[in-house]
Amino acid sequence: MAKPAASLNNIVVCRRCDAVLSKPKIEPGQKATCPGCSALLYELKKNPMERTMAVSLAGLLLFFPAILLPMIGVSAAGTHNEASLIDCIIILLNTDYHIVAFIVFLFTIAIPIVHLLAAFYIAVAVHFNKISQSLLVFFRSYHVLDSWTMLHVFFLGVVVSIYKIVDLAELTVGGGLMSFVLLLICSTLVSVTLDHHYVWEKMEQALED
Ligand SMILES: [Zn+2]
Repeated sequence: MAKPAASLNNIVVCRRCDAVLSKPKIEPGQKATCPGCSALLYELKKNPMERTMAVSLAGLLLFFPAILLPMIGVSAAGTHNEASLIDCIIILLNTDYHIVAFIVFLFTIAIPIVHLLAAFYIAVAVHFNKISQSLLVFFRSYHVLDSWTMLHVFFLGVVVSIYKIVDLAELTVGGGLMSFVLLLICSTLVSVTLDHHYVWEKMEQALED
């Protein structure tokens, strides 16, 4: 008797008209469309993992300027002070905003780093066909992380607003903030470029053999 999972692999459902179709075989660079309503079923990009590798690597490199360069500058009473993301977290700790400091660290540093590292690892493993059972578990947890990544945009706002409330002064934008914005763009692009359909397919193929 055929395994139900194996037979389901050959079926695709059109998201627009709900037609159940047998999966068309397509080559990289081609798209499969629904014969009934011509909606896109799925597409196979050429070297789909390369883009994810490049974007996640760029994001990881941007972490150094994003954390170390001044994020914001504050001018008050003739003096000018600059603070990097690390400085902001230390200031939060020193002013007894411990929970905020922890949350800011978690969402602006820890989660984005783990998210980019995870995407890079998945892309490299799938690209070079180094697929193992542990990668499957890893990819499942990556899905959970993916839904949390946009929260760091919100927490970046929290850092700036608290810093502003504490000092009540003019703010200027530093290289650290620029790098951080680019980093956020890379992080978002990672979520967009990582072809989940392709990764699942590769994993199924590798784990069935
Ligand atoms: Zn359709």
